[in-house]
Amino acid sequence: MQFKDIDGQRVVINRLTEIIDSGRVSHAQMIVGGCQGDGLQLAVAYMQYLSCQHRQHYAEGDLRADSCGQCPSCKKIAAGVHPDLLFVYPTATTTSVKKDPSSEVFATRFREFAVQTQWRGSLNEWYGALGVENKQGMIRERDADAVVERLAVKPYEGGWKMCVVWMAEKMNLSFANKLLKTLEEPTGQTVIMLVCDTDQPLLATIKSRVQTLRLAGDAASALADADDGFAPMLVAWLRQLFKLRMKELAAEVDKLSALNREQLKRFLLFAQEVVEDCYMCHMVNTPSHLNSGDERFDANFPTMITANNVEAICNALNEAQFAIERNAYVKIALMQLSFAISKALKRR
Ligand SMILES: [Zn+2]
Repeated sequence: MQFKDIDGQRVVINRLTEIIDSGRVSHAQMIVGGCQGDGLQLAVAYMQYLSCQHRQHYAEGDLRADSCGQCPSCKKIAAGVHPDLLFVYPTATTTSVKKDPSSEVFATRFREFAVQTQWRGSLNEWYGALGVENKQGMIRERDADAVVERLAVKPYEGGWKMCVVWMAEKMNLSFANKLLKTLEEPTGQTVIMLVCDTDQPLLATIKSRVQTLRLAGDAASALADADDGFAPMLVAWLRQLFKLRMKELAAEVDKLSALNREQLKRFLLFAQEVVEDCYMCHMVNTPSHLNSGDERFDANFPTMITANNVEAICNALNEAQFAIERNAYVKIALMQLSFAISKALKRR
């Protein structure tokens, strides 16, 4: 994975290679946000540059430097087989791994997935590759033990010991606590890189110990290019919950319940972004970016989101995301959410 293979992010990339070249590499780093997949690509390209034996520097073009892509280290990292680069990621039980799932157990599967998706697969795609169905993946204490163990031994290739924690927001408390100790006492040439879509769920103590890099194009700007087909679903659902005709509303809730939990959480996040965007645009009197394909809805809905109800709606959407994460009964959570939003909309 070379920097040149990543779309955009040139400013960030050039800053990263500059830091590496100057030898001021931080032991603990975190990449937050980006369009889906950017984070992992960037983390891997970073590690590849860090351990490349023939770093390339350019006088022209938009990149100041890149890894060579040809040396043994580059090739091993690109193929996901570098012995000093450990990956940690969310896992869950599957039909073949019925207990004690861990990153180590699924290492081969992850490597295949990463190479196949060129290091930019989504969490959903990973869950699909794992075959975990509707279960929530998690990063666990066992994974932390593997990190501690790996960082304690001498590097096989004599260079950096590297660890990438992908989807760090999925770490549980015992992983976080063990990781904290490692972050407090880094040994030798060690780099731990957390990659997450959002750092909101992470412990403040972890956030304070890592050097954070925020990518442009995070969740908040996903509105314009949400291509999951969420917009028409959102419009149909909002329309029914506004009219509050029970039978039609229940039918929309049924459709949403057919999404798997990860998709549903993304749908709710999308809804929240739409609401926030509508509110902002309403406040400053500009047309919203809402582009549902339904002109009347796009024109009218933003006017319904006001200072009197925006907070209540966002809170309700947030609570529903948490409820779904905690394996609440999806239809009930969605029905409660519908009533809460309906009530709030009438308060404008
Ligand atoms: Zn190289």
